[in-house]
Amino acid sequence: MNQERFLLVVSGPSGVGKDTVVRRLRALHGEVKFSVSATTRAPREGEQDGVDYYFLTKEEFERSIAENALVEHACYCENYYGTLRSELELRMERGEPVVLVIEVEGAGNIKRLYPGCTTVFILPPSIEALRERLTGRGTESADVIERRLKRADEEMALAPSYDFNVVNHTPDQCAEEIYAILRRRMDEA
Ligand code: 5GP
Repeated sequence: MNQERFLLVVSGPSGVGKDTVVRRLRALHGEVKFSVSATTRAPREGEQDGVDYYFLTKEEFERSIAENALVEHACYCENYYGTLRSELELRMERGEPVVLVIEVEGAGNIKRLYPGCTTVFILPPSIEALRERLTGRGTESADVIERRLKRADEEMALAPSYDFNVVNHTPDQCAEEIYAILRRRMDEA
C-alpha cells in the first residue's frame, strides 16, 4: 500500500535518548503525529494517560489483544507494550505522517505487516555514553537498569537490519535527521 510511506518506525536501545529526540521532533515539526501505545508498565512521574501511553492493567491489555485492537505487541522487561490499530490506520489512510517509537521485536512485526514503512534505529555516540545515561537517569531500580542494559546490547545488534541508522549526537540534530528521512519518503510519488 502506497500509504505505508507515511509510516515511520523508530527504535533505539533504552537510554539512547529516544524520548528527548521525539520531544524535539514534536516541537520542531508539529505536523508529525505519534502513535500513543498501550502498556502495562506503571506511569513514570509526569507521564499522562492517553498522552505518553494508554496505561492498562494486564487484563485490559489481554482483552485488547483478544479483540484485535492491537497491530502488534511485545513483552519488554516483563511488561506488555502494543500499538493500537486506532492510532495507526486512520492516519495512514488520511495520508498523515505517523511515527511509532517501539522496541525491535515490534518494529520487525510492523515491517512485515507494512513493508513500505521506513525504519530508523537511533544509535548512541558510544556504548559508554549509553551506559552512563541509563545508570544516571535515576528513574529505574538497579535490577531494572541491569535488565535494560542487557536488552540494550541485544537491540544494538539489530541496528543493521533497519533502513537507516541515526546517531544521537544532540537531540536537535537527531530529530532533524529523522524528519529529513520521513520528508524524503513522503515526497516520493
Ligand atoms: P519505556 O518503558 O522506556 O517507555 O519503553 C520501553 C520500550 O518499549 C521502548 O523501547 C519503547 O520504544 C517500547 N515501546 C513503546 N511502545 C511500544 C509499542 O507499542 N510496541 C512495542 N513493541 N514496543 C513499544
